[in-house]
Amino acid sequence: MKGGLVKWGFRGNRVLDEASKLTVRGVLGTVMENLRNDGARPIIPLGHGDPSSFSCFKTAPVAEDSVVEAIRSAKFNCYGPAAGISAARRSVADHLSLNLPYKLSAEDIFLTVGANHAIEVILSVLARPGANILIPRPGYPVYEARAAFSNVEVRHFNLLPEKGWEVDLDSVGALADDNTVAIVIVNPGNPCGNVFTHEHLKQVAETARRLGILVIADEVYNHLCFGSNPFVPGGVFGTITPVLTLGSLSKRWIVPGWRLGWIAINDPNDILQKHGLVESIKSYISISAEPPTFIQGALPQILEKTTNGFFSNTIEILKEAVDVFYTKLEEIPCLTCPQKPEGAMSCMVKLNLSLLEDIHDDMDFCIKLAREESVVVLPGAAVGLKNWLRITFAVDPAALEDGLERMKAFYLRHAKKQGEADEDQIVSL
Ligand SMILES: *Cc1c(COP(=O)(O)O)cnc(C)c1O
Repeated sequence: MKGGLVKWGFRGNRVLDEASKLTVRGVLGTVMENLRNDGARPIIPLGHGDPSSFSCFKTAPVAEDSVVEAIRSAKFNCYGPAAGISAARRSVADHLSLNLPYKLSAEDIFLTVGANHAIEVILSVLARPGANILIPRPGYPVYEARAAFSNVEVRHFNLLPEKGWEVDLDSVGALADDNTVAIVIVNPGNPCGNVFTHEHLKQVAETARRLGILVIADEVYNHLCFGSNPFVPGGVFGTITPVLTLGSLSKRWIVPGWRLGWIAINDPNDILQKHGLVESIKSYISISAEPPTFIQGALPQILEKTTNGFFSNTIEILKEAVDVFYTKLEEIPCLTCPQKPEGAMSCMVKLNLSLLEDIHDDMDFCIKLAREESVVVLPGAAVGLKNWLRITFAVDPAALEDGLERMKAFYLRHAKKQGEADEDQIVSL
């Protein structure tokens, strides 16, 4: 063959262009390009969801020991079964059953490469032509990205800031139709830092039942609660409608790099089984990846032996951080937090642009903040709410305080003069 006349038969998958735009990583990357790495001041990362780099958020020693022992035992160097090794599945079932009115069995659990892989598995098996799924706004963008890739139509319902970020249940009924397959909830909430009440979760399940759809309960922050609402697992309502729970070691054990997650089928009435969904999950995971066998081997020990002291220590730090966060935020007039966070690791803060001189929107705010103050926060648009910010408080409390001081300095530098702000408000009336 002569010259450059080969007609190549391949090209990139264009669907991925859209899907990958939707990730937090992508948006944070754009913000972080504006950091000035002059070494003068440390960068304060309030945009990420990974506190593992802070020494105060070190994982439990027993978790580390369990992994080392699993490796040294030489019992876990093999390929594992597609759904996960059975002792590990059983340990997750036992662990979750502690908070349920019925018992899960090992067969109800599928181990995944972190909860993100669990999202991939579920959206892949639910994807049939024409299917749509109900997703919260603001939310966790991996759902949108995965849905786009699997050709599942996304329909957003709102979380209501004035009601502690509860689901706008009235709108959910109007969004659904015969092709709706599921509703996603994230509890404790990312990005809002809210914790749903028992009553509200029950209403979500009842709404789902009325619509004939299942609930996908993303509980990667399970038990990370420090307000008045205790954590209630979605699985408690599995007798009302089938609930698929997603969990992982990533957040509660602060080891997102270990890539160990799970799907739990909370469906005592076997509705999913009867409709072929469990078979589909098995089929999908048989052609997908599984978490490293030695992490699975360590899992029973990790789940059984991690002390309450470890968990309560994490919660104490988060609680302290939230207090610092909430108090300092009051000194920054252009930022308001509708509700003090009660769980998880982040919350949504509203940006009042009319108080600022030369900031166009949330992205502009974040880029200039990164450039001038070396503080990284996530533009709300990345999680579905334009002109809000998502701020992670799972940070060493001293660094968090420093970060908020810098945001205050940023505000003062960009604040509209008193008279101008008033005029602006008159005009907008
Ligand atoms: C972090 C996170 C995940 C992904 O967790 P991994 O186990 O690290 O894959 C899923 N859902 C939400 C809401 C998260 O915040």
